[in-house]
Amino acid sequence: MSLKNKVALITGSGSGLGKSIALQYARQGARVVIADLSSEAVTHTVEEIRALGGEAFGVTMDVSNETDVETGVKCAADYFGTIDILISNAGIQIVRPVEAFTLAEWKKMLAVHLDGAFLTTRACLKYMYAQKRGCIIYMGSAHAKTASKLKAPYVTAKHGLLGLCRVVAKEGALRGVRANMICPGYVRTPLVDKQIPQQAAALGVSEGEVIHMMLSETVDGEFTSENDIANVALFLGSLETNALTGQSLLVSHGWVME
Ligand code: NAD
Repeated sequence: MSLKNKVALITGSGSGLGKSIALQYARQGARVVIADLSSEAVTHTVEEIRALGGEAFGVTMDVSNETDVETGVKCAADYFGTIDILISNAGIQIVRPVEAFTLAEWKKMLAVHLDGAFLTTRACLKYMYAQKRGCIIYMGSAHAKTASKLKAPYVTAKHGLLGLCRVVAKEGALRGVRANMICPGYVRTPLVDKQIPQQAAALGVSEGEVIHMMLSETVDGEFTSENDIANVALFLGSLETNALTGQSLLVSHGWVME
């Protein structure tokens, strides 16, 4: 099991989970494509990986924009020669009760999570099918398996992503492509740090109570770490067998069990 010289395109890798995965992949010898909406974050992450002796190339893209994705994936594949692994990870969060969501917010959430996963999958499959080898990892969530208040579009999108993952696993199997999903519990990334005060305000409780609610159903009251998610992504990316495809792996300190 090795990632040596594999080309891995990771969306949302300018921050949080995507960045931790990119660093871990680069340490394991992968050539990583940093794809993010923020050009500053792209530059910073590429420089960080190169400074550590890794190979990285940056593309700025909005994963929900068809032209951005087609152009960015082609640019990355031209640079490194192909795409072996896609980690569809870019995501956002908006918290409100269902009745307070605007249609624009709902559509934006579904566009980033679902259109983004579809567009990057389609663009990368072209290279994977041509070489009859590839791996796609979707960043799901425990919210692909359960629900929480205030997160209607997020929970809807993460459940939907599981459907896409399973279809890609079925269609890709005989063409050398496998697809799996990681379902993290709460990880203290900028996405969650921003959400804690917003949720506290929406529910009229303290930030401490929000954190307590987030962790109350875990087996040990602990947040999941970026490092744990990066290691699971390493395992899924390097295990080249159809024995493990179409699966969704909960990494949530036992918050959700199945
Ligand atoms: P984060 O906010 O730290 O990072 C998200 C990154 O995605 C940012 O760099 C942002 O610029 C980028 N991004 C946002 N919209 C984009 C777009 N349209 N196109 C391209 N890039 C875009 O968040 P994170 O916590 O690292 O989240 C990463 C993924 O993990 C998300 O899909 C999220 O739903 C999922 N997730 C996170 C947690 C958690 O607790 N942090 C738990 C479960 C799942």
